Amino acid sequence: MTLIDTEQFTVRRVSEGNNSPASHNVSGILPLPLPPGGHFIGGSFVPGSSTHFIDVVDPTTEQVIASVKAGTAADVDVAVEAAVAAQKSWGATTPKERSEVLNLIANIIDANREAFEIIESANTGKPRTVAEDDVSSTIDTFRFMAGASRTLTSMAGGDYATGHTSVILREPVGVVGVITPWNYPLLMAAWKIAPILAAGNSIVLKPSEQTPLSTLKLAELLAGRIPDGILNVVTGQGRTVGQRISEHPDVALVALTGSVVSGQAVAETAAKSVKRVHLELGGKAPVVVFPDADIRAAAAGVRNAGYWNAGQDCGAACRVLVHESVAAEFTEHLVREVSTLVVGAPEAGDDVEIGPMISRPHFERVKESLAEAKAAGLHMAIGGSALEGPGYFIEPTVISNVPAGAHVATHEIFGPVVTVETFNSTEEAITRANESPYGLSASVWTRDSSLSLSVPKQLDFGTVWVNSHLVLACEVPWGGFKGSGYGRDLSLYALDDYSRTKHVMINHGA
Ligand code: NAD
Repeated sequence: MTLIDTEQFTVRRVSEGNNSPASHNVSGILPLPLPPGGHFIGGSFVPGSSTHFIDVVDPTTEQVIASVKAGTAADVDVAVEAAVAAQKSWGATTPKERSEVLNLIANIIDANREAFEIIESANTGKPRTVAEDDVSSTIDTFRFMAGASRTLTSMAGGDYATGHTSVILREPVGVVGVITPWNYPLLMAAWKIAPILAAGNSIVLKPSEQTPLSTLKLAELLAGRIPDGILNVVTGQGRTVGQRISEHPDVALVALTGSVVSGQAVAETAAKSVKRVHLELGGKAPVVVFPDADIRAAAAGVRNAGYWNAGQDCGAACRVLVHESVAAEFTEHLVREVSTLVVGAPEAGDDVEIGPMISRPHFERVKESLAEAKAAGLHMAIGGSALEGPGYFIEPTVISNVPAGAHVATHEIFGPVVTVETFNSTEEAITRANESPYGLSASVWTRDSSLSLSVPKQLDFGTVWVNSHLVLACEVPWGGFKGSGYGRDLSLYALDDYSRTKHVMINHGA
């Protein structure tokens, strides 16, 4: 197989950027629009019961940019009390009234776009284009749910027993606990907040301890403008704040986006109070490339969907399965595509597409995966190493000629690393794609209209794209099968997940 030479990626620093000065305080040029400290409970910021703080780090500089309160179980209890009180009147509002509040939230975020983009980039190191996309998608999520909630309906009632009339009601579940991850902090919060509020519930939300700033900023901007107590935010660790949310008897449902291990912990705790659970967990998306596919388009698709957000995406196109007859051609195109990716800090240039890993521990984990692949003799077609610090940057990497079952191709790396395996029949492609503990998303690349329907039907994934990857829309559901969890974000299915069905049967004695 002929491949172009591995290029040496370098990380572009602020001073090397081709852009105007940085708009956040990494280089001390402009102040970061930080939210107030403390927890947001009952409509205002409170100090909480602990004197401990958690440092928030900019992963491009490894510098502490803020610190937030390390919340306690007692703080969660206060927040739940506020949420219970607020839910009574919120749950009694009409869909139209709730829709107006959701549209107001969308307007407030829209009016403060830049602050959110700056905060998100500073806290995660993600390029401004990714942060801009996150904020636009966040606004769209609130707008969609504002409209969708007004269409919610239930099965028509009727007379099914003599002298009795049945009415079917959709009701809020009550207080919903929400636990969010660090990869899209604001957007993942919006995916929960919008449908949960739209369905008439109140919320106690714990953002990732690594990326709490944009969620706190949202709380700051919403204070006094939405009913007090319908959205409460408690910052802190999963094992304390997340644990208490999962076990609290007055929390009716807990929704987590995060790793499989955290999902298992939440589900286990929630089982004790028979709490409903909604889990959006990890993924390892296969990209199945058939010999008749547009190979250039497939390679370009993986360039975008495999490396967006530095591959820290549960739907990332990270595991290519390509027919052996076109594997060399595909890999050559992919390596060429990947060689054009620019790595750097957000303010180092508008062309930066790859930011850092979120934290030192995650950076070490990705490096370990690469070292393990090298030790197993796998071929680094491009990249394969960490870049010199400061900052947790990894070279965009393609690992080619990966054998079936290799660890690097079966476990979630969550970094800018794409593996390439080959197959020689459609049956083998389907079997190998399904041989994964995850079932979140997959893509199929073919120009054959028959394969474009028959293969997705046989793939065990909650989303299957054909000749595309990682394209999302608020109208369509997102969520996994198998180890990727259960429940659906976005679409009318999310509204369904966050409400409950009640049957009222009236004996009218006829
Ligand atoms: P994580 O599981 O480490 O943390 C997620 C959240 O869970 C954090 O707020 C954390 O504090 C909390 N948590 C951790 N342990 C807990 C416990 N025992 N009880 C309660 N809460 C606990 O995940 P992460 O590293 O922040 O995010 C990356 C993971 O999220 C990846 O596996 C990724 O695939 C997944 N993810 C999935 C989706 C999806 O839609 N399926 C979207 C984004 C991220």
